[in-house]
Amino acid sequence: MGAQKETLGFQAEVKQLLHLMVHSLYSNKEIFLRELVSNASDACDKLRFEAIAKPELLEGGKDFVIRVGFDKAARTITVSDNGIGMTREEAIQHLGTIAKSGTREFFAQLTGDQQKDAQLIGQFGVGFYSSFIVADRVTVISRRAGLPAESAVKWESDGSGEFTVEPASRAERGTDVILHLKEGEDELLSRWKLTEILKKYSDHIATPIRMKKERWDKDKNEFVPTDEEETVNQANALWARPKSEITDEQYKEFYKHVAHDFGDPLAWTHNRVEGRTEYIQLLYIPARAPFDIWDRHQRHGVKLYVRRVFIMDDAEQLMPAYLRFVRGVIDSNDLPLNVSREILQESRDVKAIREGSTKRVLGLLEELAETRQEDYAKFWAEFGQVLKEGIGEDSANRERIAKLLRFVSTASEGKPTVSLADYVARMKTGQKAIYYVTADTLEAARSSPHLEVFRKKGVEVLLLTDRIDEWMLTFLTEFDGKPLTSVAKGDLDLGELADAAEKEQQQKVADEYKDLVAKVKAALGDRVKDVRVTLRLTDSPACLVVDRDAMSGHLQRLLKAAGQKVAATPPILELNPQHPLVQRLQFEEAKLADWAQLLFEQAQLAEGGQLDDPAAFVRRVNELLLDAAAKK
Ligand code: ADP
Repeated sequence: MGAQKETLGFQAEVKQLLHLMVHSLYSNKEIFLRELVSNASDACDKLRFEAIAKPELLEGGKDFVIRVGFDKAARTITVSDNGIGMTREEAIQHLGTIAKSGTREFFAQLTGDQQKDAQLIGQFGVGFYSSFIVADRVTVISRRAGLPAESAVKWESDGSGEFTVEPASRAERGTDVILHLKEGEDELLSRWKLTEILKKYSDHIATPIRMKKERWDKDKNEFVPTDEEETVNQANALWARPKSEITDEQYKEFYKHVAHDFGDPLAWTHNRVEGRTEYIQLLYIPARAPFDIWDRHQRHGVKLYVRRVFIMDDAEQLMPAYLRFVRGVIDSNDLPLNVSREILQESRDVKAIREGSTKRVLGLLEELAETRQEDYAKFWAEFGQVLKEGIGEDSANRERIAKLLRFVSTASEGKPTVSLADYVARMKTGQKAIYYVTADTLEAARSSPHLEVFRKKGVEVLLLTDRIDEWMLTFLTEFDGKPLTSVAKGDLDLGELADAAEKEQQQKVADEYKDLVAKVKAALGDRVKDVRVTLRLTDSPACLVVDRDAMSGHLQRLLKAAGQKVAATPPILELNPQHPLVQRLQFEEAKLADWAQLLFEQAQLAEGGQLDDPAAFVRRVNELLLDAAAKK
């Protein structure tokens, strides 16, 4: 197998990525070196880990090194490592396809607008393919550690749509990536230039990066490479250095390496934890959500190291799912080097690390919310919905998470800026509950008839429109001792907010409208659970409510839309006795049934529901319009 040269096509998405990258990332072209060095360092990390169980993979050479060199005459730049290497199949797989879930969906989002797409590609992680920003041909020679020298592979492509693979030989394990520079990129063929880029982007790489020293050649009148090498980076694990020795720039560059992100992080926390379990954590909050944030199984966020040795990328035990956006490194002092996923699941140390890290991240978010509100708003816009999952998932931290929630309310502009604490601080005297309404959109929430009485009394109501809100509210039943109460559920009990006169009036109208209520109820049959008069409305003639512990109309609709069967609980129709339509209805005989249906259907529409029989609704409205016209 694989004895000769083969020509293969890139996966369609790779072709698209290559094309886009070359055009949209050119102004950032230096990053190709960061990406190649980052891959080389990952390859060393992987071998270091595999060699714990199989030391023979090291082939007698324990020292890991990344070499960056260039050849002026050939116009090439080479990045070499003695890491894990690739087999022929791996080269085809890894350098010809993108193995990320959601890749197709991601590409569907691209707009063709270069600036926007550059941002998106950044989140996607550009990696190896960024070579083609500066190179018109890339050659990779790689040998998997442990295989014989002749089992190497040579991969080559001009980045236009195809690549070739053929057998090759490589004495040492590892990989060379050789870039044949495009016309006009000669400025990169300089030790000074390459060192500058490496210092800027790759200083934090823990494996030494070596370059040949140069000497002045009098005859040629230029610097020429010597056989002597020197290390150009600090070559120790950044997270293990004291905080005081790390600049913000270095933290940011390290983030780009661990997170495969293009942009800067929003915030980070770096701590050495001592005590029963000892570990270092360097955790970042990204500024933007990755494209696969909704895939709850995608948890490549935090890398696990044991005493500086990389162990694994996606140890999901290190972070709860609702913090899956966190990126960074956890380096344990206590775990064994040969730790497996099974051990991780059982380990008490890991449990302690997860709890400690969760607290750190929540602490970081609290600090952000308090001291950098604008950044917190950015965080909330990107990750707020994910954090909400924590209300249901992490009962131990529920209160802390609840304080981090932000909502839109009737007292705020369109942006989610209201915290529950803000709300409580603004509660009216006599107000006992935190009120909210759920709806599909902000417009629907704002114009919900249920808000009318609250507006009249100047009571703030939270407007909840995220799909996750209904689910979250089943766990978040109170805050600061105040129950969270839906304005569309149960009897409206405004408690001390309603004065005695209002209560008396409620009783009076209930008596007065007894007959009408009974007739409407008879007309609507089993479409309603009950009919009653209400004081919650000022402008609308009617609205729908459900019992306190019944499923809200909004949730019923969400579940239906998600294809779930819901046992429909009929709502309660509430009528506004002050509305002229309802007042007129008292004297209506012939058309009462039609009017009752219409009021019911209006109320359904007003809360964003769908009518069972829209055509019948239209017919009824038209008949009434014609009636009205005839009476003129
Ligand atoms: P990413 O690094 O984000 O996975 P890349 O496109 O940079 O994406 O690389 C794709 C894959 O190719 C890597 O995940 C790795 O498996 C393989 N690869 C790239 N460079 C090297 C290297 N120097 N040594 C071994 N494998 C490599």
